[in-house]
Amino acid sequence: MIDTHSHLFEDEFKDDLDECIKRCKENNINKIILVGFSEETNEKAFELSQKYDIFYPTAALHPSEARESYLEDFNKLLDFINNHKIYAVGECGLDYHWTKENIEYQHKLFRMQCELAIKMNLPVIVHSRDADQDTFDIIKSYKGKLKGVMHCYSGSYELAKEYIKLGFYISLGGPVTFKNAKEPKRIAENIDLSRLLIETDCPYLAPTPFRGQRNESSYVKYVCDMIASIRGVEPSYIEKITEENAIKLFNI
Ligand SMILES: [Zn+2]
Repeated sequence: MIDTHSHLFEDEFKDDLDECIKRCKENNINKIILVGFSEETNEKAFELSQKYDIFYPTAALHPSEARESYLEDFNKLLDFINNHKIYAVGECGLDYHWTKENIEYQHKLFRMQCELAIKMNLPVIVHSRDADQDTFDIIKSYKGKLKGVMHCYSGSYELAKEYIKLGFYISLGGPVTFKNAKEPKRIAENIDLSRLLIETDCPYLAPTPFRGQRNESSYVKYVCDMIASIRGVEPSYIEKITEENAIKLFNI
């Protein structure tokens, strides 16, 4: 199994990272995409990937990092990516949940990162919160050139199908295990499996039965098990397909 979205470099894991990784291996999770989102975390993700084989690092600037100095910030990111092996440009995107004040910079930064991913032939890992239409419009404007994944996808099944038409993957995380999560469950039930990825987004969004607690990469198995039970198939089947999809998208 592959956790395609993890932030195991966060402080929450500073005391027991080795045990977290051990629990992954015990549960047959052998690859983890370690997702950076700021100058500091891009470096942390890369550093950890030098220490542990299980990690595949990415780098990007999250929409919450979008500010007036976006050009300068982007140039620093560019410099970092040119000098470090990474597997995706992400996570980047649009987030209107906390603020729309920096919307102009969010759009510019997201577009620049999409164009960078195209230039480097890397996938993008897209974060979209309360910004469904604008995120879709930007991605659609790169149709046929940009590949990537909608991480911890929270939109409708109909929109998911539109992303798939654009060649994107849909990644489901902890919310699919929540009792009241009707739409993620509908997506799990109906999505074209060749376009599905699984993730934790740890330390956030822990799946049931750990909801509200610290999440960790080994819990991706609960996401896998839930999707398997919704579809009435063996977990090993979902495990195999989502693993193949991740290997293909991230070239790992
Ligand atoms: Zn994340």
